[in-house]
Amino acid sequence: MKTSIRNPPQALAAALAILSRGELVAFPTETVYGLGADAGSERAVRRVYQVKARPPDDPLIVHVCDALQAREYAGDFPAAAVILAERFWPGPLTLVLRRGARISPAVSAGLDTVAIRAPSHPVARELLSRFGRPLAAPSANRFGHTSPTTAQHVLAELAGFIPLIIDGGPCGIGVESTVLDLCDDGARILRPGAVTPEMIADTLRRAGLAAKVTMADRHAGDQIGGWKSPGMMVRHYAPQTPAYRFAAAQGPRVRRWLARQPADFHMALLCFPDCPVLDQRERRIILPPEASACARRLYAALRQADELACSAILVQLPENTDGLWTAILDRITRAAPELPP
Ligand code: AMP
Ligand code: MG
Repeated sequence: MKTSIRNPPQALAAALAILSRGELVAFPTETVYGLGADAGSERAVRRVYQVKARPPDDPLIVHVCDALQAREYAGDFPAAAVILAERFWPGPLTLVLRRGARISPAVSAGLDTVAIRAPSHPVARELLSRFGRPLAAPSANRFGHTSPTTAQHVLAELAGFIPLIIDGGPCGIGVESTVLDLCDDGARILRPGAVTPEMIADTLRRAGLAAKVTMADRHAGDQIGGWKSPGMMVRHYAPQTPAYRFAAAQGPRVRRWLARQPADFHMALLCFPDCPVLDQRERRIILPPEASACARRLYAALRQADELACSAILVQLPENTDGLWTAILDRITRAAPELPP
């Protein structure tokens, strides 16, 4: 199959025809590029799993126009969902709610819950409003790989597997949405993103709702709270080249590790301007020291590092862990295991 990259608005008519036939279209969102399928078509949803080589127990996020449409597809829409959707939709917040009867169990990987969000990217919004029904759309990459933040990244992942990629330029946020579970009492963050726990707690508090927001333990393994949320897998978002992470304070460990490498070793070094490592065998890629710029750049930088085809990629962890840095730290941690001692 030939995969074409086309610009909106011309691409939209073609995209609608393709989606209506039960085939897939990659489209831009403000977080990362999504691989869209008619969420009401079991065949289309199965094709998403097949194209991504995604395990069948890893549920997809359902994208909707707005809260009104979300209400039609969720089993219930609790007060916290109303308030949070009002404040953060359209935007990078996914709500995990009870699954309604109109959502195919295939979308939810058989769970009785469904993850829903309304994206803010104008192309995604136009596509959703003209399609008129929800689109199931995971990140448009092969399973476990780095998520795409440009149309060219999608092409590198899925050329030959899908007919159309809508090019909406680079994604503004660059890391996946915050996933917030509202199914049990309280609000629990399953995946950190641009909407932070503080922003969520603050919004709930102002509305007079209980404002306790907890963070799921991302490193407890796949099994969280009795049900599986496979986006929590410890290894994910990974480049092809062996990649390792290190903290600024671990300069001596990095130097010891480098001293043990063979003569032909060379590495891509993804680091902040304050990096403690300097090595003749490095190809340096600087990450911006400001959080939103860093999030926007992170996946493209990982891909760039991969393309250098070095022996290894070393990624420096940010020192700051607040706000959006939590999401950046989370993605680096899962793309790259800790450097061996
Ligand atoms: P992606 O679409 O690639 O951004 O991944 C979506 C992620 O959302 C999954 O891997 C899960 O972590 C999470 N997710 C989707 N649906 C559910 C659900 N029903 N319950 C919990 N987590 C979900
Ligand atoms: Mg993904």
